[in-house]
Amino acid sequence: MQVPFLDLKVQYQSIKNEINPAIQSILDNTSFVLGKAVADFESDFAKAHNVKHCFGVSSGTDGNHLASWVLGIGFGDEVIVPANTFIATAWGATLCGAKPVFVDCEKDSYNLDPQKIPEAITSKTKAIVAVHLYGQPADIDNISEVVKKNNLFLIEDCAQAHIAEYKGKKVGGLSNTACFSFYPGKNLGAYGEGGAVTTNDDSAAEKLKVLRDHGALKKYHHDSLGHNYRMEGIQGAVLGVKLRYLNKWTDARRRVASKYREILGNHEQIILPKEMPYAKHVYHLFVIQIAKGGSEKRDKLASFLNENGISTGLHYPIPLHLQKCFSDLGYKKGDFPVSERLADNGLSLPMYPELSDIQIEYVCEKIKHFFDK
Ligand SMILES: *Cc1c(COP(=O)(O)O)cnc(C)c1O
Repeated sequence: MQVPFLDLKVQYQSIKNEINPAIQSILDNTSFVLGKAVADFESDFAKAHNVKHCFGVSSGTDGNHLASWVLGIGFGDEVIVPANTFIATAWGATLCGAKPVFVDCEKDSYNLDPQKIPEAITSKTKAIVAVHLYGQPADIDNISEVVKKNNLFLIEDCAQAHIAEYKGKKVGGLSNTACFSFYPGKNLGAYGEGGAVTTNDDSAAEKLKVLRDHGALKKYHHDSLGHNYRMEGIQGAVLGVKLRYLNKWTDARRRVASKYREILGNHEQIILPKEMPYAKHVYHLFVIQIAKGGSEKRDKLASFLNENGISTGLHYPIPLHLQKCFSDLGYKKGDFPVSERLADNGLSLPMYPELSDIQIEYVCEKIKHFFDK
C-alpha cells in the first residue's frame, strides 16, 4: 500500500468542478492581481477568523515580514521567536533589520514556552512571535501577560493553524498582527504562493494596505515606503472556493489524528502529540516522538516506513538557533534542549483530510511492527 505524506491530487479531483470555472473567470476578466476574487476572499477569511481586517499577500513569508514591518520593527530591535518553527518565522524580524532572539518550546505543546520568555527580554525587545505550530495554538494568555508587562507587540504566525481555536476564539485576531500562509501544502492551500495578514487594529490595517502595494493608496503617489506583496487573482479565486470546505477538511484532519491516537495510544516507545486543554488543534502536522534511540533510531523508523510505501517528514530537523545563517548570534547546541530533543526524535506521519482508515491502520501497523520486531 502507498501512503503519501500529503496528497493534493485527490483533493483537487473532489472540487475540480468548482475550481476550474473559478480560474476560468479570472482568465476571462483578466483581474490577475488583487481584484474582486481576492477582495471577496479577504472578507470571507476575516469572517472565518472573527477578525476585522484581512489582506491577501504574495506568501506567508511576505506576511511574516509585513506583520513586523507594519508595527515599526526595525534596526536595533529584538524580536522573540521560538527555536522550534519553520525558518520563515524568523525572516519576519530579519527582513525588518531586527535581530531574532530564540526561546525554547514547551515539552507538551511544542510551542513557545511562556515561562522562558522573560529571561530573553532586553531593553531592545519589541515583539514576541507566537507560532501556532503544527496547528495547535500557543498559550496566548500566558504569552500576552509577558507582552503586557513589558509593553511589547504580539504577532501570531498562523501559517499552520487556519481556523484553530484558543479557548474557543479563532487564531488571527488574538494579537496586534497575524500572518497566514496558503502555500499549497498548508491546511488552506492556494495553487501557487499566497498568504494573508490579519489585524483588529484599524491604523495597522490602513498601513498594511499601502505597504503591500508600493506604499501607494493612489497609483504613483508613494506616501510611504512599501513593496509588492499583492496576492494574485487566481489564488484569490482558488482560495475562495477552498475556504468553503475548510471546516469539513479540518474535521477530517481531527478524525485522522484521533484514529492515530486510538491505535498508537498505548505504545511505550511512542510519544504522541498532546492536545492542550485550551486548544482546538487543526493538525497541519501529526508529529510523534520516539521515546528512546535518538535521531539514528528515528531515521531507521522513517526508512522502514518508506520501504513499506509510507512517506513521513521532519519538522524540523535543525532548530533555528543551530542554523548556519544565525551562527553569528552565538547560540550553541544544548541552549534549547526541548527543541533539540524534538528535532532528533520527532517524526511527522502522513496527514491530510482524505487519508482513509485503512491507510491509517496500515501506517500504525508498520510503526508497531518496527518496534516490536
Ligand atoms: C509555511 C510557513 C511559513 C511561510 O509561509 P510561505 O507561504 O511558505 O512563505 C511561515 N511560518 C510557518 C510556521 C510556516 O509553516
